[in-house]
Amino acid sequence: MSNNNATKLIHSIPVDELTGAISVPIYQTSTFVQEAPGVNKGYDYARTGNPTRATLEKIIAQLENGHTGIAFGSGLAAIDSVLKLLQAGDEIVAVDDIYGGAFRLFTHIYQKFGIHVKYVDATQAENVFNAISDKTKLIWIETPTNPTLKISDIEAIAKIAKASGCWLCVDNTFASPALQQPLSLGADIVVHSATKYLGGHSDLIAGLVVTKEKELGEKIKFIQNASGAILAPFDSWLVIRGIETLPLRVKQHCANAQAVAEFLESHPEVDKVFYPGLKSHINHDIAAKQASGFGGIVSFTLKNDTENAATQFVTATQYFKLAESLGGVKSLLCHPAQMTHKSIPVEKRRASGVADSLIRLSVGLEEATDLIADLKQAFKKINNYKTEKIISE
Ligand SMILES: *Cc1c(COP(=O)(O)O)cnc(C)c1O
Repeated sequence: MSNNNATKLIHSIPVDELTGAISVPIYQTSTFVQEAPGVNKGYDYARTGNPTRATLEKIIAQLENGHTGIAFGSGLAAIDSVLKLLQAGDEIVAVDDIYGGAFRLFTHIYQKFGIHVKYVDATQAENVFNAISDKTKLIWIETPTNPTLKISDIEAIAKIAKASGCWLCVDNTFASPALQQPLSLGADIVVHSATKYLGGHSDLIAGLVVTKEKELGEKIKFIQNASGAILAPFDSWLVIRGIETLPLRVKQHCANAQAVAEFLESHPEVDKVFYPGLKSHINHDIAAKQASGFGGIVSFTLKNDTENAATQFVTATQYFKLAESLGGVKSLLCHPAQMTHKSIPVEKRRASGVADSLIRLSVGLEEATDLIADLKQAFKKINNYKTEKIISE
């Protein structure tokens, strides 16, 4: 863990100066009493600022090695606030297998305001470079991507962004700052769905933005105050509590995911396995260079590449629960074609590598041996089903 060792992280969470409380106090208030108009203790109205939220914002800014952190009511609200930096006529160059919700936001909300998005395979940095025009204001990447775990070279793309005078924003949800800090590699903005690894317990929805520079941070803070998508005090506290164990959890997620990915790679029913920690991963070297671990998400396709086969598999596991979302202590699995990526047109979805049978695992914190046993019995169930079908036909 490069910059973010556990000691530094745990002690970036302050002890309350007023009372000595070791847990960050929850300021459940809408307004703050002023001594005279405009004379206050740093807070006036809780949309603009709340001390519990401000503590979370400071912690995430440190974790991501940035200047300003801003906490939102969801990951998508965080993404939305970054898009509001743009104006009609501007262009975005974005990674092609982008998070489905970001695609929906870009396409169905921002397109009608005159903001256009070009999607490229960002695993080759030159594809990003070639897509840039004089209208491009923002480059948007996720690395690893959801759900095919593609890796883009953050440092190379940051150089392209700099040379072209546009911002680079990295959705760092899958890696988390415990593994990867894009701002240290030259990015301007990082966004998170804190719903995932930062929260870590599948008990909240939250989003975060971190900017490298003060000026950009001020712009996004202005947007947040003007648009209003803030994170509540209690949810801010929950994210802080999640962050306390982030390094420990992420370490175990990585170890379990590596074991699961190696098991899948050896299974006869599996066609492809997508996990940056496998030597067979196309950009394993870049992943190893820019992150200190490979994360807890593993995707794979079946030899029987049909929605039907995938549906049978995702309903046959016991520990892996069928649900959208990821990054919690309990293992989850989902079928992107019918769930998270349903809003992407079929041809576009397939072209970006999200095959009909693709299954995404969020490998949790159970014992790896139990998780592997669960997957084994699920494969067996599909096989039995196939045999029964042949016999009955
Ligand atoms: C979940 C997710 C989001 C959206 O976050 P919400 O908290 O659900 O709004 C954005 N990007 C990625 C990569 C995600 O996994």
